[in-house]
Amino acid sequence: MSASSPLTVPDDSPFGVHNLPYGVFTTADRPEQRRIGVAIGDHVLDAGAAARALGESGFPALDASSLNPLLAAGRPVWTAVRAALTRWLTDESLRGAVEPCLVPRAEAVLHLPFEVADYVDFYASEHHATNLGRIFRPGSEPLTPNWKHLPIGYHGRSGTIVVSGTPIIRPSGQRKAPADAVPDFGPSRRLDIEAELGFVVGTPSELGSPVALADAAEHVFGVCLVNDWSARDLQAWEYVPLGPFLGKSFATSVSPWIVPLDALAQARTTPPERDVEPLPYLDDRDAAEPSGFDIAFEVRLNGHTVSRPPFAAMYWTYAQMLAHLTANGASLRTGDLFASGTISGPERETRGALIELTWNGQEPLKLADGSERTFLDDGDEVVITATAPGPNGTRVGFGEVAGRITPRPAG
Ligand code: MN
Repeated sequence: MSASSPLTVPDDSPFGVHNLPYGVFTTADRPEQRRIGVAIGDHVLDAGAAARALGESGFPALDASSLNPLLAAGRPVWTAVRAALTRWLTDESLRGAVEPCLVPRAEAVLHLPFEVADYVDFYASEHHATNLGRIFRPGSEPLTPNWKHLPIGYHGRSGTIVVSGTPIIRPSGQRKAPADAVPDFGPSRRLDIEAELGFVVGTPSELGSPVALADAAEHVFGVCLVNDWSARDLQAWEYVPLGPFLGKSFATSVSPWIVPLDALAQARTTPPERDVEPLPYLDDRDAAEPSGFDIAFEVRLNGHTVSRPPFAAMYWTYAQMLAHLTANGASLRTGDLFASGTISGPERETRGALIELTWNGQEPLKLADGSERTFLDDGDEVVITATAPGPNGTRVGFGEVAGRITPRPAG
């Protein structure tokens, strides 16, 4: 044992032992071998290798090449695995066996950590929905009549969910400004971001059996960061009457680390007061524990911070989203992902999309390097990060979801 052990993690690390997010990684010497990793300080623990080194045979899901078997195993297993990992990483008598299973985080290549089943994206920020209503429907009520009665969502495209760092090819599609007589076809001129939180479903549910609010934590394993790239010109022309389609489906980026719900106990917070009484299946006013989360987001464009969206301001909670998603009897599958929708707070500098930050392009953002943006240029890089309160003054880190815009290849 030495003071310089990689397991001596500073208290202010976003990846302290209070967090323990799960990912899937490879290393340069074994590029074909995807392994389950757990972030700890500046390292990644090869979780399957650690179990073998310690003679722990009770966690076969840690030997998989994706998180799906662990997701499917259910909450009692999630609790047992987390307790075991905590023991392996904190019991100094185990260090001799555990330290060889650590890989410096900088040397780990991180992959999409689970096979995404269905993907649903919600619209749960009142501030975001209000801003978009004002932009797209000036002169009318900004919120649609249904907005405070149900968490609005749409089904997205799970097959184009990509891990952080994957280049984002500028989508092409039909574009038609209101003044144009007919649409034309070409690269989006209004490529945008949406800073969101994603919820990863582990335990499936039965067809025909809605998931009650109180059971949300039995089904949701953890959370990740999401950037729901959005081509606003494609979206504006196509979305009436059936909602988002090709303006969203070209790519959605997620962070490589799945932070377990168990790491967010100190981040739970009461959501904003409901000024419309929810129907009983969405009524969380006497819930045993609040389902809001105090998570502070930061959005950087080419290294400049352009927004700090607060997840605590979200009107609808993840439990309400899940209850609504299954209210008609639709079943859940292991690997389902549902995202919150753009996170925007009440102040301008807390808006989670460029369309709001620039008010539909009318008020360009001035970056610290003197450049201006309305929407994204080719070469632009967007990095979204977040932290939440952990125990005893610590912070829970989520890592980042990053993506750089590349032009569509010629030909
Ligand atoms: Mn979205």
